[in-house]
Amino acid sequence: MVAKIIDGKEFAARVRGEVAAQVSALAGHGQPGLAVVLVGEDPASQVYVRSKGKMTVEVGMKSVEHKLPAETSEAELLTVIADLNADESIHGILVQLPLPGHMNEDLVINAIDPAKDVDGFHISNVGLLGTGQKSMVPCTPLGCLMMLRDHHGSLSGMDAVVIGRSNIVGKPMAQLLLGDSCTVTIAHSRTKDLADVVRRADIVVAAVGRPEMVPGDWIKEGATVIDVGINRIDAPEKGEGKTRLVGDVHFESAVERAGAITPVPGGVGPMTIACLLANTLTAFCRSKGLPEPEGLTV
Ligand code: NDP
Repeated sequence: MVAKIIDGKEFAARVRGEVAAQVSALAGHGQPGLAVVLVGEDPASQVYVRSKGKMTVEVGMKSVEHKLPAETSEAELLTVIADLNADESIHGILVQLPLPGHMNEDLVINAIDPAKDVDGFHISNVGLLGTGQKSMVPCTPLGCLMMLRDHHGSLSGMDAVVIGRSNIVGKPMAQLLLGDSCTVTIAHSRTKDLADVVRRADIVVAAVGRPEMVPGDWIKEGATVIDVGINRIDAPEKGEGKTRLVGDVHFESAVERAGAITPVPGGVGPMTIACLLANTLTAFCRSKGLPEPEGLTV
């Protein structure tokens, strides 16, 4: 079997198009606003923040960026967040992680109004998701769930394994799959016989951060593979000093056994920003007492 390639770039463009259409249709109720706060000069974070701002404007939303120097105190950052919480033109607030070492990330994230917490990391949203209530769902797992639902329709009764138990990907992903009535196994660095666990799964979500650690022969014939990992490795075949991106799954061998698979790059990655915009629209609708945007939330 050669797997269907799930094209995240195309899917994300579709989601952004849907967000743009709904923003336009709701113009009579106001304009959704997303604020991104960046502390310090981490180059990767700067790239993310730039592309988030550009796409926010493209879907017709208001985009606000707060770029603060690395030496900003925690108290100063908390004041910026308090102002954004109180700002009625802002419906989503994202604090770009990681924060500089002198800041307490949990404290900062929990200072965001949970209704504006479009990353879904606030402890209230974590609790709401864990108890199956309406919440803000973290963007990367939300994107993975959208792709799985699009491919399968119902996920009910499927065996799913999530490799990785981080708060931003693994755990919320497992909660979402459980919410869709999968039988869920969460694997991590202490899991015994990971190969055996993966071989039983109809759905494999890999969120580890280790290049190509899941070989194709671990994948059950016909399984759906969602590769969240983004790893940069040397690519001497492209020339001296060149690098390339790979996932946590060995794509070339997995594509021969899976029923469907996301590539890296071009799979889960583009869905994350699309889901951030979807969450901002959801937050806007909830703040106005409007119905939830269809197909863009769980
Ligand atoms: P973390 O480092 O926070 O978590 C990694 C998880 O993998 C941990 O739970 C760890 O287990 C587990 N793990 C490590 N080694 C093994 C192993 N040998 N076998 C099984 N499990 C193992 O990473 P994140 O969740 O933040 O990110 C995971 C990957 O996803 C990264 O490559 C990251 O770049 C990517 N990512 C991509 C996004 C996107 O938009 N596409 C967004 C966010 C992340 P333990 O808990 O026991 O240590």
